[in-house]
Amino acid sequence: MAAAQRIVIENCSIATVDAHDTEYATGYVVIAGNRIEALGAGKAPEGLENVVRRIDATGHLVTPGLINTHHHFYQWITRGLATDHNLFNWLVALYPTWARIDEQMVRSAAQGSLAMMARGGVTTAMDHHYVYPRGSGDLSGAIIGAARDMGVRFTLARGSMDRSEKDGGLPPDFAVETLDGALAATEETVKQYHDASFDAMTQVAVAPCSPFSISTELLRQGGELARRLGVRMHTHGSETVEEEKFCHELFGMGPTDYFESTGWLGEDVWMAHCVHMNDSDIAAFARTKTGVAHCPSSNARLAAGIARVPDMLAAGVPVGLGVDGTASNESGELHTELRNALLINRLGAHKEAALNARQALRLGTFGGAQVLGRAAEIGSLEPGKLADLVLWKLDTLAHASIADPVTALVFGAAAPVTASFVDGRQIVADGRLLTADEDAIARSTRDEAQRLARIAAQG
Ligand SMILES: [Zn+2]
Repeated sequence: MAAAQRIVIENCSIATVDAHDTEYATGYVVIAGNRIEALGAGKAPEGLENVVRRIDATGHLVTPGLINTHHHFYQWITRGLATDHNLFNWLVALYPTWARIDEQMVRSAAQGSLAMMARGGVTTAMDHHYVYPRGSGDLSGAIIGAARDMGVRFTLARGSMDRSEKDGGLPPDFAVETLDGALAATEETVKQYHDASFDAMTQVAVAPCSPFSISTELLRQGGELARRLGVRMHTHGSETVEEEKFCHELFGMGPTDYFESTGWLGEDVWMAHCVHMNDSDIAAFARTKTGVAHCPSSNARLAAGIARVPDMLAAGVPVGLGVDGTASNESGELHTELRNALLINRLGAHKEAALNARQALRLGTFGGAQVLGRAAEIGSLEPGKLADLVLWKLDTLAHASIADPVTALVFGAAAPVTASFVDGRQIVADGRLLTADEDAIARSTRDEAQRLARIAAQG
């Protein structure tokens, strides 16, 4: 076998986000093939063979690539609507439009979502897709194809809904699946696309939408399916006060107890939001190692509340960050969520002690890897891990006067990305995607958003 080609990055600050938060004021990273081979302080070792590229990263901070743990790509073409609504009214306003999506729209929206995140330093993305209207085409295939083409590491959380208007749910009847249909399609998607290997670029999770859009049977049997197939489980949990009330009325218990009663707490589960959690809910997540996807901007946009992230971290709950769907977070970026997580949590009970810059960076990197079940492979810069990393440019007007690079990245303006590598391959250069045409994606997403609006208006 030919020796792996090496890329040497030098003269940069490095935040490894390893178990000791090791940092180097000036150091180097050696990439060999798709792995990180070595890193440390000072200059790279001399005499390395097969070096195909040397990058002088003076003025940069190198971090692990950002990991997004909650999103709904299709919403890219329904941004900027129902902008002054809470969650429930926002859902009521948007479901009639969402119910009309087709394969072409979903492909375009996935490209837009992925492109926006990738050029902001995301190297691992996820899409929780749960709207599969009858006759809408191969939506899962379109989403996975978009991620592969862009070269981003990816988890499809194959969602589902089986509680429509006729059962007291929100989506129209034609936009939901049957219990058996949803389970069969989810199993097929796992078998077709899930890669369990260390280097996997594509993984699939089982992800019924939320307690108020699915039957108890879909939740229970979905969990059983995931465990039989050995894949992870994802859903929305404890997002709003209304959801809590709904669970008490229908099931006689709060969301966390409901999840536990259906087999949905465990180290193979992560949940989006978890805003309304009491002490015993947090203790249950900690005991079972259930993960949380914290989505600060979306929670603020929909006035859902402030998740108790400092309490979760203190209890040992794995927490990652999520953009959430861009119909409730129009920016669609994750690097700005580092700052938003820090600021919003400081408005909560713990005030200025809630989160610091390094904790925020950890949420967006290693925390995300834990939540996606990939902490051995990604999320920190360590020899042997996959070469997913970002070079943030911190020597321009926006950041140059801030001495500490991690403070500059988290507290400062959105930092420009000089280079982003996924699996050892560069996908972003000087803030532009190398793997897709951003201008073509911008045009197609505008066209598809207009087409969807026209179709929805016809009813
Ligand atoms: Zn969501």
